Amino acid sequence: MMRTIGLVGGMSWESTAEYYRIINESVRDRLGGTHSARLVLHSVDFHEIEQFQHNSQWNQATAAMIDAARSVELGGAECLVICTNTMHRMADEIQAAVDIPLVHIADGTASAVQAAGVNRPGLLGTRFTMEHDFYRGRLKARHGIDVIVPDDDDRTVIHDVIYEELILGVITPGSRAAYLGVIDRLIGAGADSVIAGCTEIEQLVTADDVAVPYFPTTRLHAEAAVEWAFS
Ligand code: GLU
Repeated sequence: MMRTIGLVGGMSWESTAEYYRIINESVRDRLGGTHSARLVLHSVDFHEIEQFQHNSQWNQATAAMIDAARSVELGGAECLVICTNTMHRMADEIQAAVDIPLVHIADGTASAVQAAGVNRPGLLGTRFTMEHDFYRGRLKARHGIDVIVPDDDDRTVIHDVIYEELILGVITPGSRAAYLGVIDRLIGAGADSVIAGCTEIEQLVTADDVAVPYFPTTRLHAEAAVEWAFS
């Protein structure tokens, strides 16, 4: 039996398109033939969300996520997948507002980290994900994983490339080189692996670019959703 996956997407649509593709490919691989995923998608206007984030209007951002999650539930979804790391900041409030279970992005990531036998990943993501406690704290408290984040200058580079390029679908060799420089410094500081903790990063840097185990959260989260749909 295949259950219906609910996606809250558009953050950005560049990465939501990847979720859609990976989820459908994964269902096709399992069931074969013309099979595809049962799925409901609510896609937001990211401009509004990004303004809330950068103005620290987290209550408004939470309200927008709750509205989106409820509409996915009303549309028949049986689980909830928030297609961004950053907007897991309000995961608890979103979960409390719906009756369907949230497939948390950090949990699938943690399972992959543990399966790879590493325990000191460097974390790349938006400033919110790298600096606030919701992501690092969950990895630590629930999974015993202690991440390393880049220093302040490197966090600025990582954050700015996400909002000024990746979300707009802009992929440049210069930014790839800048990211690989940050990754080298994280490894120098003791990281044994890297979490691409923003759903656009794997468009820029792939596992082939990195010498240590690399955890792409879009792929891991999309696969966790499919796993859930068949469990
Ligand atoms: N997609 C990004 C993430 O995974 C950033 C966009 C957002 O702020 O939601 O965090």
